[in-house]
Amino acid sequence: MKPINSISYLIFFENSLQELKKFVSESKYTKVFILVDTNTETHCLPAVQEVLEGFDYDLIEVTPGEENKNIDFCIGIWRMLLDFGAERNSLLINLGGGVITDMGGFAASTFKRGIDFVQVPTTLLSQVDASVGGKTGIDMDSVKNIIGTFTQPKAVFINTGFLKTLDEREVRSGFAEVIKHGLIYDRSLFEMVKKAGPSGLSGEHIYRSVEIKNEVVKEDPFEKGLRKILNFGHTIGHAVESHSLTHSKSPLLHGEAIAIGFICEACLSFKKNGLSESDLNETVQAIKDVYPAYKLKKEIYPALLEIMKNDKKNNAGQINFSLLSEIGKCGFDMFCTEEEIFESLDYYTSTTDN
Ligand code: NAD
Repeated sequence: MKPINSISYLIFFENSLQELKKFVSESKYTKVFILVDTNTETHCLPAVQEVLEGFDYDLIEVTPGEENKNIDFCIGIWRMLLDFGAERNSLLINLGGGVITDMGGFAASTFKRGIDFVQVPTTLLSQVDASVGGKTGIDMDSVKNIIGTFTQPKAVFINTGFLKTLDEREVRSGFAEVIKHGLIYDRSLFEMVKKAGPSGLSGEHIYRSVEIKNEVVKEDPFEKGLRKILNFGHTIGHAVESHSLTHSKSPLLHGEAIAIGFICEACLSFKKNGLSESDLNETVQAIKDVYPAYKLKKEIYPALLEIMKNDKKNNAGQINFSLLSEIGKCGFDMFCTEEEIFESLDYYTSTTDN
């Protein structure tokens, strides 16, 4: 599996940790930092320490969890960088899931007006999605990724070996983004991963998924057009995720919320963008096969709508959607009424009844 060429950097798969060693040894950084959370410190840092033996670096550790992807934790990272004497010519290695790659990328892209960073994603979700494409960010109040930058990493090192310690629920969460890449861009990937399921996912499926994300972001790095297709399922999915983060004792994971968004937005695709009934049913079945039914109470619909109104993709106050025209093809910049959105939420509920 040869490295994938991205906007201004390479995404390594094979011997990726050796490639990381090569990258660090061949570059002239005055200081190197590794950002981890307590889980990646336990499960992933030892392998990185082994390849970086003999190099000087400082460790920055944060508490895991989406609820910590915020400005307070970011200030903690900036303060550590400052205390450890980080200069402009420093490197931050983000070793973790999407929370670490997003927040570490944001912290690096703003510290002293920007220092270099590389992504070493350790969850399925961050390998196939969050680490590629240069979107960095943090959440504020209940709004996801509302503060952030477009800043490309200097390289991405994907080691699928890290996934061995990831629990089943997290693998399922990341699987949603793999399914999405099939739904919006490549029917054959969708068919293959639907058959494989989260536990049968192979390195080739992951590689193809990254290729798709990369092709799309290379074409449109700043999300002026095509890149919006990556948001399929995310307008409603993000609202469900944000609401669950602030209202539930055991919040939904990103991929679990997005999977709900897929069903709602496949329904909108059927109504507004010509998705056939059989493709709608196939999409719904693929999601139902993997994700447990989640009860969306009608009372929360208005709150979900309020969150959607804050979505970064909106235009002139209208809620913006990316909708499938068939499995493997997706359009963007489509607008739906409040009534249509509520109907799609009802449709989701109807699919959980049987
Ligand atoms: P996460 O970073 O919270 O990781 C999930 C959990 O797995 C955490 O508890 C973490 O500590 C643990 N973990 C990580 N690697 C592990 C390993 N190898 N073994 C055992 N445990 C491990 O969540 P995530 O699902 O990776 O990422 C979700 C985030 O990604 C969200 O904030 C979402 O907004 C963001 N995201 C960003 C983009 C983007 O383009 N920037 C795209 C998609 C998602």
